[in-house]
Amino acid sequence: MGKAELASAFAHLLVCENPRLNLAEPCGACKQCQLVSAESHPDIRRFAPEKKSRVIKVDQVRALSGFAVESPQVARRKVIIVDRADLLNISAGNALLKTLEEPSGDVMLLLLQETGRPVLPTLRSRCQQLVIPTPAPEVADQWLSARLAQRHADLGIAAEQRHQALRLARHAPMRALSYLRGDFLSQRVEALDHFRGFMKGSTSLADATRPFKALGLEQTLWLMELWATDLARYTAGGDGADAEAAEMLRFLATVNPAHRAHWLLDSIYQSRAATVNNASTELEIERLLIEWRSLMPPRRARAV
Ligand SMILES: [Zn+2]
Repeated sequence: MGKAELASAFAHLLVCENPRLNLAEPCGACKQCQLVSAESHPDIRRFAPEKKSRVIKVDQVRALSGFAVESPQVARRKVIIVDRADLLNISAGNALLKTLEEPSGDVMLLLLQETGRPVLPTLRSRCQQLVIPTPAPEVADQWLSARLAQRHADLGIAAEQRHQALRLARHAPMRALSYLRGDFLSQRVEALDHFRGFMKGSTSLADATRPFKALGLEQTLWLMELWATDLARYTAGGDGADAEAAEMLRFLATVNPAHRAHWLLDSIYQSRAATVNNASTELEIERLLIEWRSLMPPRRARAV
């Protein structure tokens, strides 16, 4: 949805010396603006998981807390972006609490959170909350096609692919853009193939797990959440977002009561909560695949 970009733009506005507040635009000319454009503003810091890590660690929060009490170097205030608060592990979250409880007057903390991801309630209650809504499908599509038109390498992307990416991203335009430019769409096809095979009993658990491992836990959970949401919609007589998975999911909807889809969604949320506590990607994927498989009618399972 562009939360990180919005936070960066807001941070820029907060340090600019002559912001045009009616337009919510920085002046673009002052020393602060020059430092921001050079990506070297010393009073703006962003904290995200380090390479090869899924979480923000307590050491990073210690550095953040140190930064929060220093005097600003060139601007009137310091801005700290936590990208994202739902990726703080428990000790890091508790460490951040101290800074949030008694922030110095010259520091602004912007905490980002992905929808539906857990954030410590003690952190949440100390923040003002701003919900960034999903744009209407037409608005998301307009933005996405304008973006794709700007880059030569994107010109071969057909409208149909664009719509598919948007549906799979549930109309989050930046996520759809990353799908179109990255490997997600092709990796997803492979994951879905193996998933179908596993459900029918023709693919082993180990083989079915492999393409999901290649997607990574975060993307796997996103995809399974999409499928479980589609399943819940089918059981309620509605429509789904993933056309390729529809046949399988519609079948499951005919043999399962609606609460099973919600039970599966809960289980996916639990896995998501576990990701910040160093759960094993492989074990979480296997656990979820086995839960999906339990939605198959017993007769089919016996035929395996
Ligand atoms: Zn400025």
